[in-house]
Amino acid sequence: MTATTSALHYVSTRGDAPQLDFADTMLTGLAPDGGLYVPVQFPRLPDLAGAESYAEVAGAVMWPFLDGTIERAAFDAIVADAYATFDHPDVCPVVRLDERRWMLELFHGPTMAFKDVALQLVGRLFDHFLQERDRRATILVATSGDTGSAAMAATVGRAALDCVVLFPDGGRVSDVQRRQMTTIDAPNVHAVAASGSFDDCQDIVKGAFADRLFRDEVQLSAMNSINWGRVMAQVVYYVTAARAVRAETGEAPVFSVPTGNFGNVLAGWVAQEMGLDVAGFVVASNANDVLTRWLETGAITAEPVVPTISPSMDIQVSSNLERLLFDLLDRDGRATAELLSEYRATGHVEAPRPEGWWGARLDDAETRAVIAEHHERSGMLLDPHTAVGVGAVDRVADLPDAPVVCLATAHPAKFPDAVESATGVRPPLPPHYADLYEREERVVEVSADLPAVQALVRRLIQH
Ligand SMILES: *Cc1c(COP(=O)(O)O)cnc(C)c1O
Repeated sequence: MTATTSALHYVSTRGDAPQLDFADTMLTGLAPDGGLYVPVQFPRLPDLAGAESYAEVAGAVMWPFLDGTIERAAFDAIVADAYATFDHPDVCPVVRLDERRWMLELFHGPTMAFKDVALQLVGRLFDHFLQERDRRATILVATSGDTGSAAMAATVGRAALDCVVLFPDGGRVSDVQRRQMTTIDAPNVHAVAASGSFDDCQDIVKGAFADRLFRDEVQLSAMNSINWGRVMAQVVYYVTAARAVRAETGEAPVFSVPTGNFGNVLAGWVAQEMGLDVAGFVVASNANDVLTRWLETGAITAEPVVPTISPSMDIQVSSNLERLLFDLLDRDGRATAELLSEYRATGHVEAPRPEGWWGARLDDAETRAVIAEHHERSGMLLDPHTAVGVGAVDRVADLPDAPVVCLATAHPAKFPDAVESATGVRPPLPPHYADLYEREERVVEVSADLPAVQALVRRLIQH
């Protein structure tokens, strides 16, 4: 099916790439000018009066982004199928923490972290648009833990997709995270242990994408957090959470978001731009606090990455920040490109800041203290990423008096060592992973160099 002229179009944040419809935006990933695709304008939130379930709200909220590229019934079926994989009837339940705080639990998907919310949908949409074009794609991912298992779970059973995930064998991938990747038994997904660090894995993946012949030969594609489809899928839970809190309090909430690549909190910005009533955003960081410093001072200054107990936030270059900067620069692609090239050249740049946003950082000791305090107070176990978001709220002095929704981005059992060291309690795995430690591990080993990985990918994939 070709896009109708009425379909929403997407432009690059650097202003120098062809406009695409939703399907091509998703399959393209990074724009050819190096920018990120965003809709020409944000649609208004639809009337949600009749929408009850998460899947119904999701279908209604996302529809304007892809109307004209897929049949509505096909899209609704994909949405329903994606969220049927979650182990909670509300998909992303909102749980009251105390008088003025709620938790938005985003970890009920197949791999126990919030990335499932987007990837379960995006994997199915990729498959749909590829099959329609009679194409296949190979998803190649370097992972330090969370992204790999979520990408694998999103591609299992998808006819048009192969998935190869490269993880560092000597890296900081936890036992649970490794087993989530190596115990998947499906012909189109492959966990590959590379003899090197996460940076080595990432360099190899970058090298593979830069090799045009190879890229075309195996039809490489990315589902990383710059993919617009992921941002779109995440808009939904800001809407459902605000709705739930409004029903209890009559007020608009502040959202506190544990942040790394900025994809999650960016979706909150999009929800607000679509008309959602939000009282503010707290961007929560661990010791890698480039975003806190930016929100405090207006300057973005790169620092080396330091490892922490919340590893999915060990990031100093938050790629999705570019989408927010584009909006703050009045959607001027040239100004955005200039700001980013100055940052790349000097590691330092002054950048505009959004209103109603606060940043706060927690180091590992403070994060453990938050986990311990909540366990003592309520018996509830927080994963370290979630704890950074919960603790950040108390570190913002001038937050408006509004109900606060803390985004819980991982299940505590995904990071059992950090949780146990803070509380003395080892969090149990949810039922669908109860036998994770008995399952057989399948892993292919490879030396950490590009030609070896390329040869392996050719051998593993089915086309
Ligand atoms: C990926 C991840 C984050 C960071 O989200 P971004 O969208 O990259 O900002 C936070 N917590 C967990 C558990 C994650 O897996």
